[in-house]
Amino acid sequence: MELAESPTRPETVLIIDDDSRISELVAFHLEGVVEAFEFATSGEAGIRIATHLPPDIILLDIDMPGIDGFEVCRQLKAESATRDVPIIFLTGDSEANRKAEALDCGASDYVTKPFEAVDLQARVRSALRTKRLIDLLRFQARIDPLTGLGNRSVFDDSLEAALADFERNGGTFGLCMLDIDHFKRINDRFGHAAGDEVLRSVGRGIATCLRPYDVASRFGGEEFAVLLGKVEVEEAVETSERLLHTIRSLEIRATTGVIAVTASAGLALVTAADHPRAGARAVEAVLRSADAALYEAKMNGRDQLTVAMREQAGR
Ligand code: GH3
Ligand code: MG
Ligand code: MG
Repeated sequence: MELAESPTRPETVLIIDDDSRISELVAFHLEGVVEAFEFATSGEAGIRIATHLPPDIILLDIDMPGIDGFEVCRQLKAESATRDVPIIFLTGDSEANRKAEALDCGASDYVTKPFEAVDLQARVRSALRTKRLIDLLRFQARIDPLTGLGNRSVFDDSLEAALADFERNGGTFGLCMLDIDHFKRINDRFGHAAGDEVLRSVGRGIATCLRPYDVASRFGGEEFAVLLGKVEVEEAVETSERLLHTIRSLEIRATTGVIAVTASAGLALVTAADHPRAGARAVEAVLRSADAALYEAKMNGRDQLTVAMREQAGR
């Protein structure tokens, strides 16, 4: 899995209003401003759909039977999945004095019914611009800019998710930690810029070896982590060997010659026999065993893989 580009899907508005005539009118005016439409006729349904999607923008009525718009807004702003989705309130004239309350509960903006099409469109466009920027920043915050792989926070999340999945569904997963051999010498001999190019090439090489369930990230410096999800023991070993082979085969040219690169790897396998619990201690235990295996591979002469079946730590 390479994270070089942000995911694209149609920009979607969710319109939450108990009066479907209003929703239809809003949708009519927003043709061409947004790409897809979802509708909810109650606050409860709105929250459900918003959490499931989530949309790129929400237009929200205030007065509805059941929970009202303010409460919907507060709940959506309290959930991480929907926190950043801009909300524009659709306020009636009688609610003019509640506009401050609308903004205070986390909404980006409001339009007053009966609204003018150009006004509605401009406000939606403006909110979408902000949303795109937030999405971009969020995406960039998870990418290692040098290699285009996930960064440490992607790694942390994916290991936690793999452990949670393992606890629910069993199976096997592997964590392969890779560290470039004698990288300091490469920097010293060819220069820091060439060192950076080596890191980029290794990152690209790693990305070519992965299956859809795998997540590769730059763990730090010249160390990479590959999480091998839903894998058999032999397949995990093969993939790890292939990663080392790919790195060994890279042809990286510097002005003063070809840079020979190898890496060492430690593979920790978490199998059904382990029954590790998800949580901080399990994360630490998996990391520790991959690290110990990597250390062994270095001690045994580098350019090789050591496999550790995870010990039953924490039981
Ligand atoms: P070993 O085989 O034991 O792993 O030796 P090593 O030289 O690879 O390991 P060491 O930890 O001694 O050195 C790692 C070097 O990686 C030191 C640091 O300057 C360099 N490094 C870390 N991040 C970057 C980077 O982003 N770009 C470049 N060019 N070098 C980096
Ligand atoms: Mg209403
Ligand atoms: Mg190294």
